[in-house]
Amino acid sequence: MKKNKLSQNFLIDKNVAHKIIREAKLEKQDNVLEIGSGIGILTKIIQPLVKHLIVVEIDKKLCERLSKYFLLHNINNVEVINYDFMKFNFKVNNILKNNAFKIISNLPYSIGTAIIRKILPIENWNIAIFMLQKEVAYKLVAEPGNEKYGYISILILYYTNTKVLFNVKPTCFQPIPKVTSSVIRLMNKHSKYMDPFFFEIIKHFFNTRRKTILNCLSTFKNLGKIRATKIIKECYLNLFLRPNNLTMQDYINITKKIKFMGKFK
Ligand code: SAH
Repeated sequence: MKKNKLSQNFLIDKNVAHKIIREAKLEKQDNVLEIGSGIGILTKIIQPLVKHLIVVEIDKKLCERLSKYFLLHNINNVEVINYDFMKFNFKVNNILKNNAFKIISNLPYSIGTAIIRKILPIENWNIAIFMLQKEVAYKLVAEPGNEKYGYISILILYYTNTKVLFNVKPTCFQPIPKVTSSVIRLMNKHSKYMDPFFFEIIKHFFNTRRKTILNCLSTFKNLGKIRATKIIKECYLNLFLRPNNLTMQDYINITKKIKFMGKFK
């Protein structure tokens, strides 16, 4: 794989590294997952502060380098896993499977949102500190009516309380990336099970985000205009709103109404 595919922009500013880690409020008994350790600037600061640190890094050379470092320093609370995080199964790791944990990552930007989507439904993490492109960070926390508000913003809101903490300049990295970065904090709400229908509806709506919600809903599972109109009115919404005008609660209401119609079990 090419280097840029792996989004290898390493943080070189130690002050920023400490600032990021402070946000996780680490304690001696914590278990931490780090995604994409790179040359280990965050890893080496986290390690002495916590009980267990599990690192998932796709680049074999970087993993070997990091493992060697910890071996040499007789450090044994770090587990370096050479694996693609997108294929990583939380259940195969005893610590992550059975304990609460925190997540810290300077995300590989090319798959930042995919990684976030993967961790959102996982139940036993409680706080996640991520660095990612500023653009993406603001999309995650965008509110209804905002141009950036979309599927991922609603997912984030459903599963977490998320806040943008601070920005990081491109010159804090090596090589220097083209974009400004932001650090965000996600607190897991441990939301209860949600009907997959809810996510399907939002995805369907935002696939045609310029259309009216009447049009969007009519084409969902062939509901048709009549039933769509009825549902939208029962949710006290205007037929001609657009997907990005609806709140998460509006989408929850629509999901319930469709379910109530009984056609789609
Ligand atoms: N945490 C380091 C590196 C950030 S760069 C720092 O702050 O400097 C992103 C890192 O993610 C790189 O080391 C890259 O090799 C790794 N990476 C990219 N894709 C990955 C994937 N699918 N799974 C795990 N790690 C990945």
